[in-house]
Amino acid sequence: MEQSAAVTLSGRPSAGEYMIASDVETARRRLAALIEAASVVLPFTGAGISTECGIPDFRSPGGVWTKNAPIPFDEFVASRERRDEAWRRRFAMETEFAAARPGRGHLALASLYRAGKAPAVVTQNIDNLHQASGVAAEDVVELHGNTTYALCLGCGLRYELAWVKQRFTASGHAPDCPDCGGAVKTATVSFGQAMPEAAMRRAEALTRRCDLFLAIGSSLVVWPAAGFPLLAKRGGAKLVILNREPTEFDDAADLVVHADIGSVLAPFVAH
Ligand code: NAD
Repeated sequence: MEQSAAVTLSGRPSAGEYMIASDVETARRRLAALIEAASVVLPFTGAGISTECGIPDFRSPGGVWTKNAPIPFDEFVASRERRDEAWRRRFAMETEFAAARPGRGHLALASLYRAGKAPAVVTQNIDNLHQASGVAAEDVVELHGNTTYALCLGCGLRYELAWVKQRFTASGHAPDCPDCGGAVKTATVSFGQAMPEAAMRRAEALTRRCDLFLAIGSSLVVWPAAGFPLLAKRGGAKLVILNREPTEFDDAADLVVHADIGSVLAPFVAH
């Protein structure tokens, strides 16, 4: 089933043709045609690409936030109890993160990368799965950091999770940096924490350069990351949104696919 309708939204670029492809075959065909026609494809991913790998997203039923509200950055910095709680939650998720392997979506994007179609992947994810799928670490632009290691908030020293876990288990508390006494936190960006400047600049440059922007598995509600799809559109790129649920930006897209990411992208995995 396909529907087409022109849309113009005040303050937003007109998408021209707007199509919702709700059956997987049609979605694949339309997506393949857009990729074929594009010179530079920019994948932009969110938690939905990793749910089939066993890592729950935040907002779906059963998602992380249906159980625990996130701990804002200022609370983490100000309170030892909140730091302990943050690390307790992180270690409670360790089985999922450690066992996760790239899914069909990751592998399809890695294929586009290897084929030279996609110069990089911009991601809101913190799970390291794009790197694990074969995209070079320097070409994974992490907007919200990475939860597979930790950093000292004082001096920036890197710590491995095994180091944190060993101290946490021994003392029952989140460790401080032995070097400077600063708080040690997963290398992720919490609410209220500054965005990584270099990653934001790189994501913006890539967004302005692409002629096809693929927003995959994101509810597109976390800012400023959610601004990139519209930036791409304003710059003249085609915009595809692939997500099980509708997003606020669907009516700005050239192709909207409400379907399972792995099922849609499986044929794009190069063997
Ligand atoms: P989100 O939880 O807000 O949205 C995920 C979206 O993916 C939802 O709209 C959901 O309907 C969709 N989805 C889930 N599984 C799907 C599937 N198999 N096929 C199609 N759609 C599917 O996530 P977000 O937009 O990335 O933003 C929230 C923040 O969550 C990000 O900052 C990110 O750092 C963090 N996060 C990351 C991970 C991870 O690294 N895997 C997991 C949870 C949360």
